[in-house]
Amino acid sequence: MTDQITIRRPDDWHVHLRDGDMLKAVAHYTARQFARAIVMPNLSPPVTTSAQAGAYRDRILAALPADSDFQPLMTCYLTDSADADDIAAGFAAGIFTAAKLYPANATTNSAHGVTDVANIQSVLGRMQDIGMPLLIHGEVTDSDIDIFDREAVFIERTLKDLIAGFPELKVVFEHITTQQAVQFVDQAGPNVAATITPHHLHINRNAMFQGGMRPHAYCLPVAKREQHRLALRQAATSGSSKYFLGTDSAPHEIHAKESACGCAGIFNAPYAMESYAAVFEEEGALDHLEAFASINGPQFYGLPLNEDMVTLHRSETEIPDILPAAGTSIVPFQSGESLVWRLATA
Ligand SMILES: [Zn+2]
Repeated sequence: MTDQITIRRPDDWHVHLRDGDMLKAVAHYTARQFARAIVMPNLSPPVTTSAQAGAYRDRILAALPADSDFQPLMTCYLTDSADADDIAAGFAAGIFTAAKLYPANATTNSAHGVTDVANIQSVLGRMQDIGMPLLIHGEVTDSDIDIFDREAVFIERTLKDLIAGFPELKVVFEHITTQQAVQFVDQAGPNVAATITPHHLHINRNAMFQGGMRPHAYCLPVAKREQHRLALRQAATSGSSKYFLGTDSAPHEIHAKESACGCAGIFNAPYAMESYAAVFEEEGALDHLEAFASINGPQFYGLPLNEDMVTLHRSETEIPDILPAAGTSIVPFQSGESLVWRLATA
């Protein structure tokens, strides 16, 4: 039995670090696990300009421990009035790494999102020209579409046409949750990839209703049936270069989750690599963990691989029930459970 795994230092290609006191409370968790992370722009108000992104990056760097060399990679929140010139200039200056498409009202703080992809055609054309990745929250938002079908319907209604219209555009289909998404990404060209979260690899939709309402298992896109979880596990651990790590770690204070109208989001940053390693081991694919966590992402983005290494040891890790944060607390993913791997601290 393998007792330790040493891999290139991993990156997180999708994280919510928030702002203010919550940013100060959570940034160190991601910085401990990852060298770089794609930081989501859905603050309130959202990060829509390169000036806002530069200022947000400075706040993230200021929130890190003094000895951290963590590198936040910033994204632009696309709106109907997105400015192609500012986005392209921000990308050229190294402020923006990618831009994010949220269909309006798809998830937390996405009210400003794009109401129709037709409104951002010139921005997408420019991004295609300059090789700037488009990150997509792939769900329709129509209230008449069942919530468990919104990702599959988005593929048919929006994603196929978007990719046909911009065949060279680099597209990351983010936090995929369905067999349909896996099939779509598998058959698409090399410019289309996907991230997969630890929670969608571990839980199916039953987790939200196990013995009662379980708000800490609620996220968007919502977890789907078991057949979809199994398809995601197969894709993540397959060794395909189209899939890479993106935690979608999304902290909410405990009272915002345990509420009559609880927020969507799962906070998995503190034990993300331990959680992914458990999945890869269960699937007999520990030899594919490094590609998923540390190689496929930077290669897709055209960024250098991390040169330093990290080691996971076989050593039981107890996940606490709650973690203190910003004068309140957050319930981490898999709270109260124990995982078999432990990421060594530097
Ligand atoms: Zn997200």
